Amino acid sequence: MKKRGLIWFKNDLRLHDNESLVKANEECDDLICCYCVEKSSFEILELNFRKADLMRFKFLQQSVVDLRNNLESIGGHLVIGKVSAVNTLPELVKLYGITDIYAEEEYASEELELIKKIKNLLPNIKFHFFWGKTLYHKNDIPFEIKRIPLTSKAYRIPVAKQTEPRKTFEIPDKINFVKNVESKNFPSCEFYGFNKKNYEKATPFVDGGETAALERLEYYTFKSELLTGYRWSRNLSDGLDYSSKLSPYLALGCISAREIFYKVKSYEAKIKKNQSTWWLVFELVWRDYFTFKGLRMGNSIFQTKGYRNKDVVWENDPSKFERWCEGTTGIPFVDAHMRQLNQTGYMSNRGRVNCSSYLVHDLKVDWTWGAAYFESKLIDYDVSSNWMNWHMQAFEIWYTNPVNQSNKYKAQNFIRKWIPELSDKDDTKVLIPWTYEIPKYVKPIEVYDKWARAINLIKKQEA
Ligand SMILES: Cc1cc2nc3c(=O)[nH]c(=O)nc-3n(C[C@H](O)[C@H](O)[C@H](O)COP(=O)(O)OP(=O)(O)OC[C@H]3O[C@@H](n4cnc5c(N)ncnc54)[C@H](O)[C@@H]3O)c2cc1C
Repeated sequence: MKKRGLIWFKNDLRLHDNESLVKANEECDDLICCYCVEKSSFEILELNFRKADLMRFKFLQQSVVDLRNNLESIGGHLVIGKVSAVNTLPELVKLYGITDIYAEEEYASEELELIKKIKNLLPNIKFHFFWGKTLYHKNDIPFEIKRIPLTSKAYRIPVAKQTEPRKTFEIPDKINFVKNVESKNFPSCEFYGFNKKNYEKATPFVDGGETAALERLEYYTFKSELLTGYRWSRNLSDGLDYSSKLSPYLALGCISAREIFYKVKSYEAKIKKNQSTWWLVFELVWRDYFTFKGLRMGNSIFQTKGYRNKDVVWENDPSKFERWCEGTTGIPFVDAHMRQLNQTGYMSNRGRVNCSSYLVHDLKVDWTWGAAYFESKLIDYDVSSNWMNWHMQAFEIWYTNPVNQSNKYKAQNFIRKWIPELSDKDDTKVLIPWTYEIPKYVKPIEVYDKWARAINLIKKQEA
């Protein structure tokens, strides 16, 4: 019997290192390619913001369109569903006589639920799922998921000793696409309730797509050799060059973690092997660890009490939460990062650590509200990286003092850039504006005694 495959692209929006594409091409007579937008991803939550906001929509659109262009350049197509895979996949199966569906394996509850529904609707279709998210394959790590260690070190060391990342998959030389299938346009932003003018103005921090991802990797490594200094620059906040900016591409699978790993290995062989090259791989291992630990902990990673079932008294003042979201808390280091997030869909790791710590430990707002807000805004939103990092900030990590950190990481220029009210202020005033008369900029929600030392240090520097 003729085998006709459907490749269902999800968070693997790439041609390189794509096992579903390679296997489908080997096993089927011909192929259809599709991507399904999930309309429910853009719905408004009880917290009064969207589950995924405009910047994520635009970055997704850019990435899917790039995939469509890349498929068309090799004679293929990309059918794009508007509402949900639950509608589109059965339609395509019926229309084209699909026998097999190929896709990346999922790990989080909402996505697994979606697949369950689709399998129920298509009992005669053979599904093939391939693990592709992480650097180390899920089946190669020396732990069963239910025994993933509770500390990253206990995970990382055995993994590094006993496992190797698998080889990447080459793009097939020839793919047999089903003839006369027309690509679809990505649906308009208005269909999901976004305003066209806001959409046109929106500029995600980096451009989406596999093409931009591979260019960025080349730039960060061989072209600029910025990778050599990563270890020492990675904690900064301002600009494109202090860290790789590969997270948005990893989140939608425009690039694979293995592709990055082998590029770093090649860089080590040809340019430089140092603490920086080690550290970049170490961060990819963190990403893996959170994915596997998230799998082990299941839905408890989305709950206020977390996976340790800890009772914390939250004050949950809605006005404080709103000021945090808007970047008007009066604490410049927090506000600058939150405004950058709102306007670009990206925030540095230093910013994420400080903004989350401030929300949880100073404002005493339920950490799941903050995690949901980041989910709404971040173009690199990744289920496990986001929720596990927030969980760690809420329950496992010491407090981060945003005043001290703004000074330690010399954030003056970054603050002046994102807070126009402070753009003409000197290096001291810009870090602790509340100690001076600056009517243009909002007064802080509260100035805590525990910040006194950091404030005095900044004042002393001025003298
Ligand atoms: C509260 C909070 C929420 C976060 N939410 C997300 C998220 O939704 N998606 C996301 O990809 N990262 C998240 N991070 C991790 C980290 O901040 C980003 O991965 C990083 O800032 C991305 O920029 P980059 O690609 O330049 O990173 P680089 O410093 O260049 O690191 C290279 C890659 O390593 C991975 N990585 C680095 N740090 C971490 C980390 N702490 N945890 C997991 N992976 C890491 C990322 O994939 C990143 O692209 C979060 C961190 C915190 C503290």
